[in-house]
Amino acid sequence: MTNATPQRISHWIDGSSTPGTSGRVGPVFNPATGVQTGEVELASAAEVNTAVASAKSAARDWRQASLSRRAAVLFAFRELLHARTDELAAIVTAEHGKVLSDAVGEISRGLENVEYATGVPNLLKGGFSEQASTGVDVYSIRQPLGVVAGITPFNFPVMVPLWMCANAIATGNAFILKPSEKDPSAALFLAQLWKDAGLPDGVFTVVHGDKEAVDTLLRHEDVAAVSFVGSTPIAKYIYETGTAHGKRVQALGGAKNHMVVLPDADIDMAADAAVSAAYGAAGERCMAISVAVAVGGVGDALVDAIAARLPKLTVGNGADADTDMGPLITAEHRDKVAGYIAAGASSGASVVVDGREADLPAEGFFLGTTLLDHVTADMSVYTDEIFGPVLSVVRADTYDDALALINANQFANGTAIFTRDGGAARQFQFDVEVGMIGINVPIPVPVAYYSFGGWKASLFGDNHMYGPEGINFYTRGKVVTSRWPDPATSTVDLGFPRTR
Ligand code: NAD
Repeated sequence: MTNATPQRISHWIDGSSTPGTSGRVGPVFNPATGVQTGEVELASAAEVNTAVASAKSAARDWRQASLSRRAAVLFAFRELLHARTDELAAIVTAEHGKVLSDAVGEISRGLENVEYATGVPNLLKGGFSEQASTGVDVYSIRQPLGVVAGITPFNFPVMVPLWMCANAIATGNAFILKPSEKDPSAALFLAQLWKDAGLPDGVFTVVHGDKEAVDTLLRHEDVAAVSFVGSTPIAKYIYETGTAHGKRVQALGGAKNHMVVLPDADIDMAADAAVSAAYGAAGERCMAISVAVAVGGVGDALVDAIAARLPKLTVGNGADADTDMGPLITAEHRDKVAGYIAAGASSGASVVVDGREADLPAEGFFLGTTLLDHVTADMSVYTDEIFGPVLSVVRADTYDDALALINANQFANGTAIFTRDGGAARQFQFDVEVGMIGINVPIPVPVAYYSFGGWKASLFGDNHMYGPEGINFYTRGKVVTSRWPDPATSTVDLGFPRTR
């Protein structure tokens, strides 16, 4: 469906809205109505080159800005983002579909990263060793890389860009954002806020686009580093292509997050957590729980408790205050998720609640909540990241069986354990091969002063995102060895310098 005049969504280059010249555009929908509301410009290589040239020139000046000036811009940006959260949340809901309270939550988790980056004067403090050798001091400094790029997914159009740009800009780089073409407007709102906060033109740039824009960034000699968040096949491609072109790359991929429920867990609490984490944002979260692993005899009670909660959820337009769960991002994705439910049923899973049969709004890309029981590790509903409102329950006889299941999975983003046994939780934290662990916490997204990242096929690269590892990623170290000798003591010495 198309409305009369889809809004044109342009690039943001050199501090202002810049209409595209490629002649290529992509559709943007309101997923709750199915109506096309916008058309986003898709940049050509030439347009990306223009954006990089602007960023390169801006980066030269921005790295000269004092730490206190940079911090002042970040504080101003933080205030604007806070004050205008509701406007931005409405933009997110209109293009992504998630409910307004969830959009506000995403913005507040992004804001944390801005608050962290306001501490840049402290974060960039180096080390100093007086008298490392007689009359010799040694100190370390960290300097920006220059132009860095961020390529982001549709599911967090504000939070994920803020994971990247706050630290990149605070550390003195110019940042180019290539947002998802499915919900591109939030990026432009952020660009205006950066400008209003006093950030010089060209330090924050938005180029919209698809593979052509991404490939140009990955190969461009003036782009020093690429941060990526998205699906695993693309993350792997970004990592391999970017590093082959001499760039520093951190590429976060997909997930299949397991929630282990031990026999001693509080079943009502575990069911509340499973429902919240599996169906929030219609399951379109990289930290969504998509597999509940019921250990011992807990399976029947857990499945009953989850199933009892699902009819109480209201599925509808995320802009309506009483909606719990919105639509999926596109009609194609909704159909793909429905296909997984069919595949699960035909491979022997029990369909306890079938989202395809839910009473749903007639328009828009809706699918109800689905609960599958007796799922096994060979089924596609288990092996693949579905990224929709589908929760699979796998039954495991013992803790060791549950652990082996998780450790054999290719994805290793997040996981959670529900138990009242502190010793069991500690053992799980020790044993499990996953990057982020929740203990009675279903979505353990680290706060901004830690770093976010999975293991295995959920992250390609060495540095996790944001927090201390983000500061590290966007800077490179220098160590200075210095001596201010008395000229009278100067001699020629061809030996290798030793400390004395
Ligand atoms: P996606 O991989 O399709 O797209 C991500 C970005 O890559 C977009 O900007 C897109 O334009 C670009 N892209 C897509 N295909 C490309 C190609 N062939 N070549 C170059 N660039 C390409 O992901 P998505 O559907 O937008 O987002 C959902 C995925 O992101 C899920 O797999 C989810 O788990 C993952 N995700 C992971 C995390 C994490 O922290 N690990 C966080 C959020 C989302």
